[in-house]
Amino acid sequence: MNRGIVFEGIVGQERVLEKLGKDLESNQTVHAYLFEGEKGLGKKSIALKLASALVCRNDGQRPCGRCNSCIKASSGNHPDIGIIENDKGVIRIDEIRELINEMQLKPYESKRKVCIICDADKMNMWAQNALLKTLEEPPSYATIVLLTVNSNSLFPTIVSRCQVIKLHPADPETIEHHLIKNMGVEKEQAHMLAVFSGGIVGRAVELLDNSDFYHRREEVIKICNKLLTPDLLGILEQIKFFEEQRLHIEEILDLMIRWYRDLFIYNETKNMGFITNIDKKEDIELQATKIDLTKIRNIIFIIEKAKNNLKSNVQFHLNIEVMLLNIQEVVLNGNGGRSKI
Ligand SMILES: [Zn+2]
Repeated sequence: MNRGIVFEGIVGQERVLEKLGKDLESNQTVHAYLFEGEKGLGKKSIALKLASALVCRNDGQRPCGRCNSCIKASSGNHPDIGIIENDKGVIRIDEIRELINEMQLKPYESKRKVCIICDADKMNMWAQNALLKTLEEPPSYATIVLLTVNSNSLFPTIVSRCQVIKLHPADPETIEHHLIKNMGVEKEQAHMLAVFSGGIVGRAVELLDNSDFYHRREEVIKICNKLLTPDLLGILEQIKFFEEQRLHIEEILDLMIRWYRDLFIYNETKNMGFITNIDKKEDIELQATKIDLTKIRNIIFIIEKAKNNLKSNVQFHLNIEVMLLNIQEVVLNGNGGRSKI
């Protein structure tokens, strides 16, 4: 019989899946797991797959996806899988108490009972204390899976009771391949999205249909083009865009840095193979001819400085204005910028 674990549909987390697969195959799953990693890496998907595998009735590959348990699990209706999901605020003690009471009852249909706590770091002190008791003496059939972006917000005593599994960003190539193969995205767009996702598959999928992101990227390319001209007033007018998109300023500055990196790479290699904004070849060729490598390097430095300033008390408007003027100064005169913050 072909034993093993089926974990299709989860991208770029092979190491984690392999580890859980081995635990399941050898019946050595622990009573408490803690999945830690950024939003969008697939923590919840992996937890749900693990839960399905634990309640699946098939002896071969699990979750089989066909047995009664798997069908119930995939529709979110399995009585032995509980999930606490509270994306608004605090997870309170009454929610955890309810969970604990439920966990004390033997499984209804399966050999195991699984509880997933999303955003476990939102448990308040009392909730964490209540959970701790169950983690110390879990029922033999129980598996508790905590999900968090940052385990520092959890009691060390909770973390130490769990097997901590860290999820890391995937290679951009893996995400690119996923977008092309499983989602039918064109190669050039998939490449661009994979790079901007920072290796976070959920982010790539979110960007795919996010027209605001494409709009911001178009605007950034236009602004970068404008910065190559001596039109001072035109450049200062662009501050309006940064003000309007203030909530997305980090993304915008990253878009700018990526854009200038593309110009740099193209100028250095004349090869489009390493370009992020590969769907914007013509704009890259056009802008790259107007600026040399030293200037581009200085511009990237200026944008990175503005990005760092976001974390300090530098006034937003002033920070952006100085950045734009400094970039223009580099473009026109080649020096590192006249005004400093
Ligand atoms: Zn099954």
